[in-house]
Amino acid sequence: MNSPTTPTRPPTPRASTPVLVVGAGPAGLTTAITLARHGIEVIVVERRPALSGLPRAASISTRTMELLRSWGLEQEVRAGGVEVEWKQWVGPTLNAAGDTHLTSFPTREQSAVLSPTAPASVPQDHLEPVLLNHLRSFGTARVEMGTEVVGLEDRSDDVQVTLRDVETRETRIVHARYLAAADGARSTVRDALGIVMRGPGRLSQAIGTEFRAPLWELLGDRRYCIYAVTHPEAAGVFVPAGHGDRWVYGVEHELAQYSSPKPTKDQSARLIRLGSGLADLAPKIERIGTFTFAAQLADRWREGAAFLVGDAAHQITPRGGTGMNTAIQSAYDLGWKLAWVLLGWSGPQLLDTYEAERRPVAAHNVARSADPHGGARLAAHELPADLGGRIPHVWLRSRAHTVSTLDLLGPGLTLFTTDPSATWQRAARSVPGPPLVVHDLDTITARGMGIPRGGALLARPDGAPAGWWPSGTEPAAALRHAERAR
Ligand SMILES: Cc1cc2nc3c(=O)[nH]c(=O)nc-3n(C[C@H](O)[C@H](O)[C@H](O)COP(=O)(O)OP(=O)(O)OC[C@H]3O[C@@H](n4cnc5c(N)ncnc54)[C@H](O)[C@@H]3O)c2cc1C
Repeated sequence: MNSPTTPTRPPTPRASTPVLVVGAGPAGLTTAITLARHGIEVIVVERRPALSGLPRAASISTRTMELLRSWGLEQEVRAGGVEVEWKQWVGPTLNAAGDTHLTSFPTREQSAVLSPTAPASVPQDHLEPVLLNHLRSFGTARVEMGTEVVGLEDRSDDVQVTLRDVETRETRIVHARYLAAADGARSTVRDALGIVMRGPGRLSQAIGTEFRAPLWELLGDRRYCIYAVTHPEAAGVFVPAGHGDRWVYGVEHELAQYSSPKPTKDQSARLIRLGSGLADLAPKIERIGTFTFAAQLADRWREGAAFLVGDAAHQITPRGGTGMNTAIQSAYDLGWKLAWVLLGWSGPQLLDTYEAERRPVAAHNVARSADPHGGARLAAHELPADLGGRIPHVWLRSRAHTVSTLDLLGPGLTLFTTDPSATWQRAARSVPGPPLVVHDLDTITARGMGIPRGGALLARPDGAPAGWWPSGTEPAAALRHAERAR
């Protein structure tokens, strides 16, 4: 307490929240969930009064589904989609004979070998409410809809953010120790930080028509993730957009050809009839929208205590279906790293690894999406970017093939050992840093993970290996070394 003679200093402005997340799209919701799951207080502000009702991304990748599975959301997410094989069908119309081609998403058979889960054909407007509900189940998270960021000042050890209530126009200031700018392609935060985007901002334009029509009846057992039709007057793609017969028909235009306004409902219905090959189809047109194909990367993803994440950091065309997946995976990466630093499990240098590790993946997906043939690449080439170097999936033999090695990953570090692991267990208890849980694997599972008998593998929450040791290693020294290297 101050004595009467001690001059009273003004109170140091304290951050009112450890983390402010701007935007409640897939990137913002994922960042916030990851923080909340670590017990970190987080505020999410979202300009819209409600989540977007647009189906947009309909392809949830293997790695994204693994993250959703680790949160217990797999079934809830799948419930809003359709069961399809991950192949592209190509033909003159949906009603004609066509061919199937592999895509960059693994087929069901491939997935069964490489992952405890598989990609899902689920629209973004089903996924986002599932994420929001999950976020709201944590007492440490607050979501403010209808609230936008209108200004910010990045100070050395926090960010001062001006928020505005979209309806009342009232403004207020919030101090955040860290800020995650997940405010999309036209990021206000990115502009305020003076960060520029590099790369083509208008590669082409596309028209997406959302409609309902009984196409599954026509397609029968030809259930695929995307249908490309080559009809000369109606070339485009049909993409399932959720439960029942909800579809999006997408047509891409070269910029030079795109001078006309978007088609009317009647014109769209005619194109859908031509593309489907069903002259008497009566599609119920629900929405016609245009969007721009952009392939851009932000110059840098961080300014002081503010981080860009998702479309704010990278714009990826829909070719290949990686935009939202990249956003979610980067958001997960940022989330656990911020949590570790705020919990004191790691020094702030860990935050430097966010851009270092995620930028190459985003750069790859941006370039791929700019390539007109980028959508045709195969899983064999594209899976490494999606899986992000996580440890192999091996079903635990002791648990009747229901628990994967990926299911053992926790919020801290996970150490996989082979029997006997008593010395590793003892060493794990003596090393400072994040909580470290030890799992003793049977020899064959360990072999599948590349762990020799008597050796060990240390993994981060995202499954990336943080250390690997052969037999004969002195456990305490190995773990201390891994701790220093972080
Ligand atoms: C037609 C189409 C099809 C696509 N298909 C796929 C696909 O199959 N697979 C795939 O992976 N990706 C796909 N994508 C891309 C995917 O939709 C985006 O990559 C994804 O939405 C990015 O998520 P985000 O959270 O970064 O940004 P957004 O989803 O754009 O969310 C940003 C949020 O921030 C809010 N916001 C903005 N400014 C402020 C502010 N100042 N204050 C507060 N809130 C603010 C916005 O209202 C918005 O809700 C597709 C995109 C389109 C257009």
